Amino acid sequence: MYNSLSMYERICGKIARSNYKIYTVEQFLKENPSCGFIILRHDVDAYPLRALEMANIEHAYGIKSTYYFRYIPNVFNVEVIKSIKSMGHEIGYHYETLNKCKGNLPEAVKLFEKEINEIRRIGIDIKTVCAHGSENQKVYGLNTNIFKYDLQLEKKVNIIGEAYLNIDFANVKYITDWKVYTHTSNLLYEVFQRGEENYVEYSPSTVTEIYQLIDRVLSSYGGRFYISIHPQYYIKERYLLTIMKIRSKVSKEIAKWINFKKMCYKKREIKYALCCVTEP
Ligand SMILES: [Zn+2]
Repeated sequence: MYNSLSMYERICGKIARSNYKIYTVEQFLKENPSCGFIILRHDVDAYPLRALEMANIEHAYGIKSTYYFRYIPNVFNVEVIKSIKSMGHEIGYHYETLNKCKGNLPEAVKLFEKEINEIRRIGIDIKTVCAHGSENQKVYGLNTNIFKYDLQLEKKVNIIGEAYLNIDFANVKYITDWKVYTHTSNLLYEVFQRGEENYVEYSPSTVTEIYQLIDRVLSSYGGRFYISIHPQYYIKERYLLTIMKIRSKVSKEIAKWINFKKMCYKKREIKYALCCVTEP
């Protein structure tokens, strides 16, 4: 479900008043603190202007986080990126080259090097990268696989780390909001396992739950947290938020109806198959 940007502003206020030190991914990998920290990350998958609005709010509260931009038209907006960087936030590369190369690992590695070099030539230095996830990863594999295929890749492109692979998930609690928006589950605080070792994700399925969870994090002391928030779902304008909420509800209902139809069709198929088997 879409959310109002003012709700995020309230969270920033709480973060700023808390005892936690907030890290960008780059700072975290460099300093490696032992506890009492939150790594704050944003994947910019769409609507870069919403990322800029979020960055402005964080800046007003003295918070610095990492914004990972996909390298695709309409998202990789150089002007927006430079504005966010000028506030002291980290800019990272949200790569998806395995996806773009339809699972071809050697090609994906080459494209990764090409894209990161292009970004640097524009004048945006990249110190950390973060894999984009999509439905296609079930077919082509996780984008992080390029680092497992080419073990020298990190060195070759001169980065200090990858936002999944270089984090010890056994020692940080990873909270992300993606499930809130994709409606893939109704389980409260479902723990989601991915391919990487020790990767455990706390992904609440409603906005209220994610805020309750972040609230709990902030009122605790000395924990180790990694929070990922997607700016495209935080909308400033009230009228737009209402429209998006209605649109999201309608598409959810349509998806439910399609699933129902599919189930009916499957049932009919099974019935038909059983008839064929039992008929002489
Ligand atoms: Zn993404």
